[in-house]
Amino acid sequence: MVRVRFAPSPTGYLHIGGVRTALFNWLWARKNKGTFVLRIEDTDQERSTAASEQVILDSLSWLGIDWDEGPGKGGSYGPYKQMERLPLYKEHAEKLISAGKAYRCYCTKEELDRQRAELKAKDPKASFRYPGTCRHRKDQPDLPFVVRFVMPESGSVTYVDKVFGEIVTPNHAQQDFVLLRSDGIPLYNFGAVVDDHTMDIGLVARGRDHMVNTPPQILLYEAMGAKVPELAHLPMMLAPSGEKLSKRHGAVSAMDYRDQGYSPHAVLNYLSRFGWSADGEREVFSIPELTEAFSWERVGRGDGKFDAKKFLAIDHEHLKTPALTPDAEYAARTAPFLAARGLIVSEAEVIRTLPAVRDRAQTFVEAADKLDFFFREPPVFDDKAKAKFLVPDAVAKLRGFTDVLAATADWSLEAPLEEAVNAWLAAQSLQIKDVAQAARVALTGRSASPGLFQVLMMLGRETSLARLESGIALSSGA
Ligand code: GLU
Repeated sequence: MVRVRFAPSPTGYLHIGGVRTALFNWLWARKNKGTFVLRIEDTDQERSTAASEQVILDSLSWLGIDWDEGPGKGGSYGPYKQMERLPLYKEHAEKLISAGKAYRCYCTKEELDRQRAELKAKDPKASFRYPGTCRHRKDQPDLPFVVRFVMPESGSVTYVDKVFGEIVTPNHAQQDFVLLRSDGIPLYNFGAVVDDHTMDIGLVARGRDHMVNTPPQILLYEAMGAKVPELAHLPMMLAPSGEKLSKRHGAVSAMDYRDQGYSPHAVLNYLSRFGWSADGEREVFSIPELTEAFSWERVGRGDGKFDAKKFLAIDHEHLKTPALTPDAEYAARTAPFLAARGLIVSEAEVIRTLPAVRDRAQTFVEAADKLDFFFREPPVFDDKAKAKFLVPDAVAKLRGFTDVLAATADWSLEAPLEEAVNAWLAAQSLQIKDVAQAARVALTGRSASPGLFQVLMMLGRETSLARLESGIALSSGA
């Protein structure tokens, strides 16, 4: 039974790099009908906040990355927040001490700082390693202590990464690292290993920036007599400049993309392509297709560069394609952006107007903007468009256009409207371009809109004729 986990620290927003890690684990769990565990690594008490934990939960929920065990879900391996698991870390630390694999260290921070400063004074380039002062100490004074790991002085750790292949790391470069602080809070390596072991995690997949932590973690599993999980490290997502992707490079949090009106499926689709590929150059996938196609064998080692344009293009593909974004979902995701513009519109009404934006809107925010005129009475007029097209010269043509439409009975399709208008244009020796822009501005307030006859049909007879009459009045300077 596949058990994988995502273990974010609640110290800020959920970075899209973190989402990619969550996604690969989740896809693997879903593909194998396994379990996806969400664990909150909140041991950095200074930086962890409840608000940021909530952002993680909200981001994953919006993305549709659902967890089987974790906060709000429970599960038989809980609790799922590290600060609620402190007794467990203490228990495992004590077992390691009894087995001679760890020891209590009473060196104070001041002492260690002094030793570090002395070393640096001698050799500014040297990196300080704990000299093992308390390794063989037998007494147990009533003083604060940390628990340190007994690092083997020779030998090496070898593991076969599912992405990077065989990795060999000599032990001599490592130090007796701290497992537990004097306040009983574990450091990352120890907390993660105790949890992955006790939560029965069979495969650990995370960013390759964590590869330095893997050898000490493997030594810990071995010292605990625990099975080492399979390991997969993922290539990094970098900024176009090759730097680490951060806020300076634009939107990097999952919530930014929600607020910009991206489809969560498109976000996952785009992120899936960082490190993973299938079918050669294929870019667009539905979530079920990703789940089906995902495998660690197809994860590559090369870091990927973030490309905002491509991301937007993938979002556009998802919004264009009803199989990827069905009407009801499109309407439900657009409605909040219409509401933010003060337009409270039923799902059925939005669905009716979707053909006008399907191909044109790259995001749901754009869709709300493009649909605004359908639902606002009167529409908002673009000043430039009004000044250019709703002018006295347009009055006669708008009058004729309006009259011929008023005389047309069937507004249920575009064709009867178009035929009637074409007959009138022919009789007047006019072309559609002679009246289209003025009519468009009268109907939508803008000089760019969906097709004129589509707009007429969707607005309906009554609204269209009323807006054209107002347009005539505006054109004649009334
Ligand atoms: N809390 C760690 C992080 O957010 C988890 C690393 C891991 O997956 O082991 O980077």
